[in-house]
Amino acid sequence: MHLNSLTIDQVREALQQGHTTAIRLTESFYARIEVEDAAIGAYLTLSKERALQKAARIDALVSRGEQLPCLAGVPVGIKDVMATRDVRTTAGSKILANYIPPYDSTAVARLEHAGAIVLGKMNCDEFAMGSSNENSAYRPVHNPRDLSRVPGGSSGGSAAAVAAGMAVAALGSDTGGSIRQPAAFCGVVGLMPTYGRVSRYGLIAFASSLDRIGPLAKTVKDAAILLHTIAGRDAMDATSADLPVPDYVAELDKPVAGLRLGIPREYFADGLDGEVRVAVEAAIEKLGSLGCEIVPISLPHTEYAIPTYYLVATAEASSNLARYDGVRYGYRASGVQSLSEMYERTRDAGFGPEVKRRIMLGTYALSAGYYQAYYLKAQRVRTLLARDFDQAFQKVDVIVTPTSPTPAFKLSEKTTDPLAMYLADVYTVTADLVGIPGISVPCGETTQGLPVGLQILGRHFDEGTILHLAHQYEKNRAHGA
Ligand code: GLN
Repeated sequence: MHLNSLTIDQVREALQQGHTTAIRLTESFYARIEVEDAAIGAYLTLSKERALQKAARIDALVSRGEQLPCLAGVPVGIKDVMATRDVRTTAGSKILANYIPPYDSTAVARLEHAGAIVLGKMNCDEFAMGSSNENSAYRPVHNPRDLSRVPGGSSGGSAAAVAAGMAVAALGSDTGGSIRQPAAFCGVVGLMPTYGRVSRYGLIAFASSLDRIGPLAKTVKDAAILLHTIAGRDAMDATSADLPVPDYVAELDKPVAGLRLGIPREYFADGLDGEVRVAVEAAIEKLGSLGCEIVPISLPHTEYAIPTYYLVATAEASSNLARYDGVRYGYRASGVQSLSEMYERTRDAGFGPEVKRRIMLGTYALSAGYYQAYYLKAQRVRTLLARDFDQAFQKVDVIVTPTSPTPAFKLSEKTTDPLAMYLADVYTVTADLVGIPGISVPCGETTQGLPVGLQILGRHFDEGTILHLAHQYEKNRAHGA
């Protein structure tokens, strides 16, 4: 039995049947990390003591013959933007290099409550700002499928760890594509839930009206189990929705015949890599052969999504990141003469170049003279983008697109050109701005063996339908039917 390739159900089964113990399983993941992670760089911090204590508790449940919770013994990784009690949480930034949170984020607490074992904290772009993981203040992450390429970002460590068998699953965060794009680049499943579906309590804020927590996993079913575990109202996050959480797993096996799939023409225009197009079109054809109705649609404001996102996200970031001033959190410059010098030198030394760029862009967009021309206008365009989707969802049940215009690119390929890097998010940012859920599911490979992701977007709070369609695609593709 390959312990490192197990899915969630297989872990439970293996524990229940006595094929392994939670401690052995946890140790085998650490052994794998020890061997593989020097070249990949997915983990920033390991939480071995906490993990082994938790594993011992699961083994005690097994030996007493008790009912196991749904994630019993499942080794997971947590993107380092989520607070973990007594475990260093850096957000990929030097400014939080020594930050040890006194509390757990709600999503992490819910995973652990369901029996999951937190192996450690995953590398990511600094404050989740990036599309390649090269903005981590610690080290870049290498794509396990081709070490000369990026894993995507900003949840690059999470995606790479799952792809390399260094975690059964992981949590990531998505503000402009950071779960779905790295999932596509590394060949795993990445689910961004509806805004409000999962509590953001304990998530280090980047852009609060966009940020979401969601799972990266090997299979759609695992993603469904994880979402079910972390979703639902939380009194600690006023934006978390007070809606019932459906049993996503129970719905996975419904037939998909009759579902209407919208194919937006704007997502298949110039700039889409030829091999990505071929893989995505083949996937759409496969869904058609399963009885889905393929409906060409238009999302006419798509071309404004990137500028809108980079105004809204930077404006909110500039406000959120004001708290890192050396007074309460993390790094503080020493040897300073005055308070303002302390602020300046702390922020100058603590933040990396991309974070500084965003703080400056965002501060500019919010400043008195430019607020109307930039921030306010961006909010208006955001409304137009939302209307595009409202209209589309009157005609179709889901929208199907490529996740990213290209497969994983080479390390350093885009680092000197921020605009080229921003354009990597062209198919993902709109769903963030509009608040709807989206999933990326692997749909083949290029001739060089690089994974391609199929993105499925759904109506607000309709994660059930996108999970169900993605699962049916995954299953039928695997069977070659
Ligand atoms: N790549 C996008 C950015 O740089 C999205 C990041 C994210 O989703 N956290 O902002």
